[in-house]
Amino acid sequence: MSSMKALTGAALIDGSGKVVRDPVLVLENGRILAAGSAASVDVPPNAERIDARGCTLMPGLIDTHVHLGAFNCTSFGSARTARFEVTPQLQSFYALFHAQICLEMGFTTLRDAGRGTPRGDFAEEMCAVRDAINAGIVAGPRLQILAETVITGGHLELLTLPRAMPRPENFTADGPWELRRKVRELIRSGVDGIKTSVSGGVALGTSPDVRNMTQEELDAIVDEAHAFRKPVAVHCFNPEGLHMCVNAGVDTIEHMVYSDAESIKRVSDSGAWVIPTLLNRSDYVIDKNVQLGLPPSLIATQRSIQPACFRTFRAMREGGVRIAMGTDIHNVPEMGCAAMELELYVRHGMTPMEAIEAATENAARAIGLGADLGTLEAGKIADVIAVRGDPLSDIALLQDPANIALVMKEGRVYVDRTAAVPRLVRHPEPGAWKIIDRA
Ligand SMILES: [Zn+2]
Repeated sequence: MSSMKALTGAALIDGSGKVVRDPVLVLENGRILAAGSAASVDVPPNAERIDARGCTLMPGLIDTHVHLGAFNCTSFGSARTARFEVTPQLQSFYALFHAQICLEMGFTTLRDAGRGTPRGDFAEEMCAVRDAINAGIVAGPRLQILAETVITGGHLELLTLPRAMPRPENFTADGPWELRRKVRELIRSGVDGIKTSVSGGVALGTSPDVRNMTQEELDAIVDEAHAFRKPVAVHCFNPEGLHMCVNAGVDTIEHMVYSDAESIKRVSDSGAWVIPTLLNRSDYVIDKNVQLGLPPSLIATQRSIQPACFRTFRAMREGGVRIAMGTDIHNVPEMGCAAMELELYVRHGMTPMEAIEAATENAARAIGLGADLGTLEAGKIADVIAVRGDPLSDIALLQDPANIALVMKEGRVYVDRTAAVPRLVRHPEPGAWKIIDRA
């Protein structure tokens, strides 16, 4: 039986800035065989036809900064309670569940930016989720797994464990050789890349504008990861950190907070990708954190850095910095709301087309998958979504699940909301799961 499919819709956004009206995509064996207007593409007679009537066809969306192992506030009342009450074994199932929520919203590829637990780095567990999806045992998006190298007393440590709590062995690493060993261990665990942090952030016990490691330490991490041909993603909140990232030759710089003209010019000249995570700085998130009872000092920090984040976003875009979409979704902002990030890009200076490119072609290139993903053109992997309406006239429509009509990964339909009974991936009765610490 032929696996050939022909997908039609009202329009196609190819991911690299082009729009095609009355488009046809011919798919075979999980790849795109042909893409173009109905007048220019021959549809083989044996192809199964799928008509996404009235829809815009787009590449599957890519979020390059998520934390699937964090606890979604749709699953738990209190992320802090959940972190200390749930075993890593159960947490792995939640990570899969969170990935499936994102897939149902049109995100066919996610890069997980790591998440420590009271028992350690959670790298092997996340690799198992990735591999179970790749093996076809469970349905989910394509995952790239990063895991963290954590210095003593730094942002990534204090974000994970309170100061007074005992640490598991090897939880932190200091100095170039300990950090090289940690990188090697994580790579042995099967991760796709390394995440680390050069500055403070929003966590109790640290402030955003402090250094978190020395240049020598960052150089060691990057050198070691690159020796294994693995990329390095770096949490960075300040100009000193931006300079350190450029000096070390990191692959992606995560978050946007403080910057100045000189650091932006250096990042732009270096060609490093920057992942904005503006959603995590939005009023939406701050308001939710207030409702969830986050400590007032953290709320105050969030409010104080917000204007700098938005200013840096505009300045970096205008300064020619390469920007790829990433949200930092974890417990808040929660899984499934990633497309709100794109609305913020548009509100702070991007065109809707640029925002879509940030989540398709540029995101794929930023995480090293540009040869296979990110655009709808012959030869690429057939990750395709069909969206009701025109996201170029209203980028916010990507936020409503009802508008995500079809989600295909590798040529296979995972989500079909055009059917009388919608086909989803996560649960036979969407919304019927329990918030288990409220039972
Ligand atoms: Zn993050």
